[in-house]
Amino acid sequence: MWVSEIMLQQTQVKTVIPYFQRWMGLFPTIQQLAAAEQQQVLKAWQGLGYYARVRNLHQAAQKIVLNHNGIFPKQLESVLSLPGIGRTTAGGILSAAFDQPVPILDGNVKRVLARLVALQVPPRRAIAHLWELSTALLDPQQPCNFNQALMDLGATVCTPRQPDCDRCPWTFHCQAYNLGVQSELPMSETRAPIPHKIIGVAVIWNDQGQILIDRRPQTGLLGGLWEFPGGKVEPGETIEACIQREIQEELGIGIEVGDRLIVVDHTYTHFKVTLNVHHCRHLSGEPQPIECDEIRWVTLNELDQYPFPKANLQIIEALREFCHLKYPFT
Ligand code: SF4
Repeated sequence: MWVSEIMLQQTQVKTVIPYFQRWMGLFPTIQQLAAAEQQQVLKAWQGLGYYARVRNLHQAAQKIVLNHNGIFPKQLESVLSLPGIGRTTAGGILSAAFDQPVPILDGNVKRVLARLVALQVPPRRAIAHLWELSTALLDPQQPCNFNQALMDLGATVCTPRQPDCDRCPWTFHCQAYNLGVQSELPMSETRAPIPHKIIGVAVIWNDQGQILIDRRPQTGLLGGLWEFPGGKVEPGETIEACIQREIQEELGIGIEVGDRLIVVDHTYTHFKVTLNVHHCRHLSGEPQPIECDEIRWVTLNELDQYPFPKANLQIIEALREFCHLKYPFT
């Protein structure tokens, strides 16, 4: 229940199912998850995105083993003290697993409630009010069924576009329906365009045909994952100059920037990136983990053992295809 709730944050059910099945095979108990290496846990999550979720899940398992004898706690306060568990996730777990009367407020529920009261501001600006509503409506006799029904209503009937009000049991009470404005609610935020970062990325080869990879610091979006080093292109800078500068700053080594391998576009929730990836040759200096946690020289075949962000997987694929044909610096 807990694992599926975390996986389903920001990820669709059909994507989650194979990950969930594989995960439960690898870490069937909280104790086994707590005892696993972080790299093994990140690898099992590779491709699901939002990696803070899995780092928190792992830390929470260790906390449960330490403080709760390896048994998932049933008290709301204890659950909320676990890393990565906010109020709606706690409500989802406690009501579904233990039938406790704890409310929920995920994206679908916000939409249903905003329509129910014909909310005149975007939901984000009325969170306290929506929590009160979710709490007041919750059926204390059957909280599990109620919360599940509320989420299902949002997912299947009270959908973002063209809600199917004819199938809804709440038409009598729904103010948006009675005012005929259900398709115009909830009110949306006016959003600024998301930033676009141009990144220079280096696939650095040494004379033994190995490639240099680095592990990102634990904090941040992709913390703990491995990547090909690089960084943001400064205004007026060429991709080649950016790669050379970044590698000097990040790893303290001199390189020759060679041919372009691939350009990868990837969109995250709050920004998008274009990765301009070049083959590079190590020329001078011993690589140092100046702006990362760890560095390693690995062969192309060994790359599979490391968890990488999704955008980097395309680089690995391109490398395989390329090196099938030739070695870049001969
Ligand atoms: S009546 Fe329509 S808009 Fe109102 S809650 Fe039901 S499906 Fe949503």
